[in-house]
Amino acid sequence: MDDDYKLLIDLHKQGYRQGPGRDAETEQALNLAMIDRAAPLKVADIGCGTGASALLLARLLNAQITAVDLLQDFLDVLNERAESAGVADRISTLACSMDNLPFANEELDIIWSEGAIYNIGFEKGVAEWRRFLKAGGLLVATEITWLTDSRPAELQKHWDSEYSEIDVASAKIRILEKHGYSPVGYFALPEQCWLGQYYRPMQARFEDFLKRNGHSEEARAIVAAEQQEIDLYEIYKAHISYGVYIAKRTE
Ligand code: SAM
Repeated sequence: MDDDYKLLIDLHKQGYRQGPGRDAETEQALNLAMIDRAAPLKVADIGCGTGASALLLARLLNAQITAVDLLQDFLDVLNERAESAGVADRISTLACSMDNLPFANEELDIIWSEGAIYNIGFEKGVAEWRRFLKAGGLLVATEITWLTDSRPAELQKHWDSEYSEIDVASAKIRILEKHGYSPVGYFALPEQCWLGQYYRPMQARFEDFLKRNGHSEEARAIVAAEQQEIDLYEIYKAHISYGVYIAKRTE
């Protein structure tokens, strides 16, 4: 693992979430999906980080959840949190890349993925993961999304270089339809999910993070890049959010 990765883990491991989101919106997605909470379900949470959504799903559903992440350090935190929350018997963790998942065809009732599918790209993710879902099974994925049809140049330039698949919700829904899903619901995460739950807690960790890492050039560069993203969000938040996409696998 290279040093930048180690630093990113160091900055984000203590966060309750590693991306924008909030328990209330995770539950809102569950409600929109009209999931029967009493039914025994098999769920995968892909790119789970330290487990905010997996822990909530374990509490709210009668489910066995496989929480998948590339980084064992995040899964170790998740396992500790699952123990403390009394849901360890409902969650198993798997260190694995999301483009090489070991699930069988039609094994899962639900695929959940918050703030993570971009790592392999939304279109590749929804296309590849479909076969793991039972017919009628649900995909719930959050994805960075334009809220407006045109954007200020500075913002467009930044996100085009970060993630070339960024687009409006109608384009993402079209991709879901193209790959054999029927859309069930969509909403955009509100500002609180970015600032209150993710950016402000991260900013509060900057100082200790820099101290722990001797104010190295690499650590300072990571803080500067995160701060630049936060600044852009604060200026242009009318144009950008995470979209929450809920879709059912067609037959
Ligand atoms: N879902 C969590 C949340 O909302 O707090 C984490 C979101 S974080 C922005 C993205 C997560 O994807 C990280 O935990 C990262 O380790 C994981 N990740 C990155 N590339 C991955 C890959 N190829 N396979 C599996 N997980 C990956």
